[in-house]
Amino acid sequence: MFTLPPLPFADGALAPVVSANTLSFHYGKHHKAYVDNLNNLVKGTEFESATLERIIGDSAGKPDRAGMFNNAAQIWNHTFYWSSLTPGGGGKPAGRLASMIDSDLGGYDQFRKDFAAAAVSQFGSGWAWLVAEGGKLKVVKTGNAEVPLTRGQTPLLTIDVWEHAYYLDYQNRRGDYVNAVIDKLLNWGFAADKLPRS
Ligand code: MN
Repeated sequence: MFTLPPLPFADGALAPVVSANTLSFHYGKHHKAYVDNLNNLVKGTEFESATLERIIGDSAGKPDRAGMFNNAAQIWNHTFYWSSLTPGGGGKPAGRLASMIDSDLGGYDQFRKDFAAAAVSQFGSGWAWLVAEGGKLKVVKTGNAEVPLTRGQTPLLTIDVWEHAYYLDYQNRRGDYVNAVIDKLLNWGFAADKLPRS
């Protein structure tokens, strides 16, 4: 059985950037629904005791396993999103990430602009990501439940740009949500922990 992982912060801790109301629906209804759906889909199959990563890898790109892929990847994506956010976060990172942002992404200001643009320009539902690939940082975006793991990229941070992530607080102003997350919530300590040693 898959379970809904606990949030890494207190209820309401992301307000006012992400309100307690948004959090209660996003985590308690949307994230939970993916867990419930996946449990129903794997019941009695070879995937009952598989890891999320194995289900994602074995179902990606297979139309007959689309339901399993979508729900497993959305559980993984949401758990990663909650860890990508922290109260009092945002702003410029320090250490190795800062120097890689300078060398690979043209400096923090350019990164900030490109990350926001990826999040705002994702057409419809999806995710913006900071990833590591081949020892370098990259900004990428994915649609719907797609996850960089299936492209050989190591996710470091993500922003959920499905409308349910921001509509209660920002309505159609996705850019305001994205800018506030980048400036006030991004968890650079988490990204540093995920950065592969080179
Ligand atoms: Mn979401």
